Amino acid sequence: MAEVLLKGAQAAGALSEALRSKAEELKAKGVVPCLAILRVGARGDDLSYERGAMKRCEKIGIAVRQVVLPEDVTQEALLEEVRRLNEDASVHGVLMFRPLPKHLDDEAVRAALAPEKDMDGITDGSMTAVYAGTKNGYAPCTAQACVELLKHYNIAVKGKRVVVIGRSLVIGKPVSLLLLAEHATVTICHSRSENLPEICREADILIVAAGKAGMIGAESVRAGQVVLDVGIHANADGTLCGDTRFAEVEPVVSAITPVPGGVGAVTTAVLASHVIEAAEKTVR
Ligand code: NAP
Repeated sequence: MAEVLLKGAQAAGALSEALRSKAEELKAKGVVPCLAILRVGARGDDLSYERGAMKRCEKIGIAVRQVVLPEDVTQEALLEEVRRLNEDASVHGVLMFRPLPKHLDDEAVRAALAPEKDMDGITDGSMTAVYAGTKNGYAPCTAQACVELLKHYNIAVKGKRVVVIGRSLVIGKPVSLLLLAEHATVTICHSRSENLPEICREADILIVAAGKAGMIGAESVRAGQVVLDVGIHANADGTLCGDTRFAEVEPVVSAITPVPGGVGAVTTAVLASHVIEAAEKTVR
C-alpha cells in the first residue's frame, strides 16, 4: 500500500493560508485583488471549475467578477470584452475558459489578452516565461499545481528522473519545463512513444496527463515511485476517475494522488496565487 496519499486539499489549504495574509496586506494598501472569470456558454466542466475557483477566492479575500457571454457570441464582441478587462485597472487577472466554441478564433482571443493579466498561462508571453524560466508570466495553473503538490509533501525533485505522459500546452509541456527548472531529469512521452510501460517504470516521479481513463496500470509502475495522476474523467455512475487504475497502482507505489482530491484540488489555489501576485505587481 502507498505510504502517502497525496491529498490536494492539504497543499491547497497551506497555500491559501499564506495567500490570505497577502490579500490582507494588499487591502491595507487600498488594493482589493480581483479575478475576472470570462466564460462563453455554460459547459459543465467550466461551471464546476468556476464554482471551485470562486469558493477558493472568497476564502482568501479575492473579489471575483463573472463575465458570461452567450454560446453564440461573435468574435468581435468577445474581443471587445477581453479589451475591456485588459483596460480595467480594478481587475488584476483574467481566467478565460477554453476550448472556445468552434466559430471563435482561439489564437486571436489569446493574443488579445494582456499577458500581465493572463492567470492560466495561455498567452505567448506566459509560455515564453515558462520556457525561459522568468517571472514575466504565469504557468498554467494545473501544471504548477503538480509542482506545488510535490513541494508541499517535501518530495525531492532535484536530480530525480521524472517521466511525464502528455505533451499538451496546458499540462505536459509546462510541467516538464517547470520540473526541469527544479533540476529534475525529465522525459516527455506522448501517444507515439514506444515501450511506454518500460519508460514509466524508470521514473522516480511519474506524472500522468494523457486524458485517457485508466490507461496506466501495474505494468507501468514499480515500488518506490511517486505518481501524480492529472487525468479526470466521469464514470458512467457519476463518480470520477483518473488516468491510472488506482486500485492496481496504489498498492505498488510509495505515494499517489487520489482522483478526485489530488492535483485538481491544488489548481484553484495556484490560480489564486497568480491573482495575488498580479495585484502585488500593481502596488510596487
Ligand atoms: P490533451 O490536450 O488531450 O493531451 C493529452 C496528451 O496525452 C497528448 O500529448 C497525447 O499525445 C498524450 N496521450 C494521449 N494518449 C496517450 C497514450 N495512450 N499514451 C501516451 N500518451 C498519450 O489533454 P490535457 O489538456 O493535457 O489534459 C490531460 C488530462 O488532464 C485530461 O484528463 C484532463 O481532463 C485533465 N485535466 C485536469 C485538470 C485538473 O485540474 N486536474 C486540469 C486540466 C486538465 P499526442 O500529443 O501524441 O496526441
